[in-house]
Amino acid sequence: MQRESRKVSRRRFLKEATGAVGAASALTILKPRWVRGAEKEFGVVVLLGPPGAGKSEQSRRLTARHSIPIISTGDLLRDQVRRGTQLGLQADTYMKAGQLVPDSLMNPILEDRLSQPDCARGFILDGYPRTLAQAESLDALLKRKGLPPHIILLEVPTERLFKLLTGRRICPRCNRSYNIYFQPPQKENLCDADGTTLVQRPDDKEEVIRRRLDTYQKETQPAIEYYARQGRLVRVNGDQPPEKVAGEIESKLASQ
Ligand code: ADP
Repeated sequence: MQRESRKVSRRRFLKEATGAVGAASALTILKPRWVRGAEKEFGVVVLLGPPGAGKSEQSRRLTARHSIPIISTGDLLRDQVRRGTQLGLQADTYMKAGQLVPDSLMNPILEDRLSQPDCARGFILDGYPRTLAQAESLDALLKRKGLPPHIILLEVPTERLFKLLTGRRICPRCNRSYNIYFQPPQKENLCDADGTTLVQRPDDKEEVIRRRLDTYQKETQPAIEYYARQGRLVRVNGDQPPEKVAGEIESKLASQ
């Protein structure tokens, strides 16, 4: 029943996006696109979930499997900060405080990235949308591009998230992420891939984490409810080993 309503709403999304006349034409675009993968446009995967739920890890697995780029809004913002751009300087204040960067800064950065040629077949969106307003802007943007999104929610109990976040360490060179409690590197505090010393992000400090989880509840939950109401939300158990999470994502995507 839930799957049926999801299909119907994806069909409606495509119809509005492409002006496709019949349901059959919408469905033939949809399913083979996912199954054949390498041909034509691939589609968009939107990964939702609280901070620390493993969105980056799952994005990396999806990009390796389907050869579409990961668009992480956190990484886009950090890149602006690193380059010292005007947008980056403004965004940095919000990020350090564990608050959301306003849409007036966030949306132009995202739109610019999505207009690059490598996004034409589709992409994985990690960290966007985080508010109801962003979910609505994204729908409008994707309709213009004719790319219907698959909306995946990684669910993890709140009590585990705290350990996941305080234990997170990142390789500043290759961006690979570890966890000192659940997924430690082979050599203490060194990246398995390139041996670089791992770092803790400033926004992974304890009081900032509390604020980020709070922001997720207040701001992002309404976006999740928006997708759920429309029957477009695919829930995945994020509280299991990464390869199991990846398997569940793939099988749910294949059945869409
Ligand atoms: P996490 O998912 O662990 O919170 P991210 O790297 O996705 O980490 O985001 C880091 C910070 O960047 C966020 O705390 C927020 O300040 C900012 N940010 C990322 N994505 C968005 C977004 N879609 N809208 C507003 N701010 C964002």
